[in-house]
Amino acid sequence: MTHPAIDAPRPPSSALLACGVVGATLLALIALGHDGRRIAQLAVLAAPPVLWLLWPLHSARLRRWRTALVWLWVMGFGLDAVVRAYLLDTYQAAPDSAMVLGAAANTNARESAEYLRMHWRSAVVWSAALVAAGLLAGLFARRGATAPRARRPFWVRSLLLLILLAACVAYVSKPWRRLHPVVFWTQWSQSLQDQRAAWADQEKTRDAQMAQARQIAPVITREGPSTVVLVITDSINRDNMGLYGYGRPTTPRLQAHKAQEGDRMAVLRNAWSVDASTLPALRNMFHFGQPANGNDGNNGNGDSPPHLLALARAAGYKVWWISNHDDLAIEQQHARYADVVDMVNRTPGRASASLDGEILDCVQEAFADTSTERKLIVVHLMGAHPHYSLRFPENANPFDDSVDAVENGLVKDGRSAWVRHFRQEYDAALLYHDFVVSELLQQTRSTGKPDDYRAWMYLSDHGQEVGHGSNRAGHSPATASGYRIPAVVWRNREPLPTGAATQQPFRADWAGWSLMDLLGIRWSGQKAERNVLGDSYRWQAPEIPVVVESFSK
Ligand SMILES: [Zn+2]
Repeated sequence: MTHPAIDAPRPPSSALLACGVVGATLLALIALGHDGRRIAQLAVLAAPPVLWLLWPLHSARLRRWRTALVWLWVMGFGLDAVVRAYLLDTYQAAPDSAMVLGAAANTNARESAEYLRMHWRSAVVWSAALVAAGLLAGLFARRGATAPRARRPFWVRSLLLLILLAACVAYVSKPWRRLHPVVFWTQWSQSLQDQRAAWADQEKTRDAQMAQARQIAPVITREGPSTVVLVITDSINRDNMGLYGYGRPTTPRLQAHKAQEGDRMAVLRNAWSVDASTLPALRNMFHFGQPANGNDGNNGNGDSPPHLLALARAAGYKVWWISNHDDLAIEQQHARYADVVDMVNRTPGRASASLDGEILDCVQEAFADTSTERKLIVVHLMGAHPHYSLRFPENANPFDDSVDAVENGLVKDGRSAWVRHFRQEYDAALLYHDFVVSELLQQTRSTGKPDDYRAWMYLSDHGQEVGHGSNRAGHSPATASGYRIPAVVWRNREPLPTGAATQQPFRADWAGWSLMDLLGIRWSGQKAERNVLGDSYRWQAPEIPVVVESFSK
């Protein structure tokens, strides 16, 4: 058979080689992001266009189309695999896990940019793998069959037939088809939208929770004015606080408070979160660490555990929520229970100033409010949430040019230069954080009349890995550093744990029980054994997905 000599006919083995190389590249990509049976299933789903390279095409235009389509196909599967591999490597999580879905649905453009600034190195590595695969696939996808050739050997024909048959089965079967990147990611973005829509429609849930709280009828047992401040911060690992014995002076102000206040300020030495990311951590904090009956506690039926802020309001507290986060889920699930909601970070004109110090004026206004004698002021800080360099003012990093014991220790542990650099920025963020948290404590200490009851609790939603247990920086569900948090309580009246009692481990999902003590609220659901401030406190180790040698250190 003859054909126009637009392209010189290729040697007969060329198409088979092209098919083999493109197929092998595809398989390597798939194996990056999937494992076990999944690899075979995806390989079968991906096979048909690759086999198309063996089909002779006369027209050069059609061949160009084929090249482009096969290349896009490989890239589609490749991108899917690389994203999965990245998530697995970084968070031990699949893209459709609750953690990744929740975080993705709850992230705005600014946060995405900050996230990329922090994690661009891994992004570059994974993108490089994809680019290399793209080059290889592009090079060989062009070399598909142009002219028919002698019949291929029987075994080749049988193998092709078998693969095509398997592909037919794969596309007919729904569970297989769902693994196809196009189908999977279309469904994924639908789940994201559903999640956002559910968050946006939480008013009914809150109404139900308020009604439930009124029915529980909690009462305030303490006479007279009462001001309680709850400071929730983000991504603070206690191992980096001077207050907890860290080698760099990151918390001089909090330590000065401690020196002045003595036993009126309890530093809980062994505090743990049971969640490594914000949304589940806050859910647990405000729902007393009790699982929701049903799905995710969003249904607001009578079975779900009460919301702490709803209880505080039902008891007679006026509640403020002052936040430096711009976060739809947290606003809907928690902040909107408050009487006054101030999302400082969202105020027009202040959008660029995301430093936590921005909230201090708002908190001062809450202290100055004279409409009530009972105040619960919740302050939600960014803390040291990545990217660390955005969490302290410019030129305020005293740790970036000296070689100290911390730096030497990191070098000894084999931590890379960029992780050590992140550690310096992280510690600078902690130093600025120390200023904000101490100001909040100072405001609490000096508000009202000297005899008025005042209490203050500070804790982090979860910890952070910055080269502590592994050579990486960020949220860390897989290392203990992801769960090691600070927890500090101050009050001007009534005893707090002292001495050995401050060594008892504390878990953040039980913080609500202690907070009810600080608020002086009595209610039917009380569990004295979970209140770290009381005498009947009894520690129970939480189940977290990492091995913890001892919760007491
Ligand atoms: Zn967080």
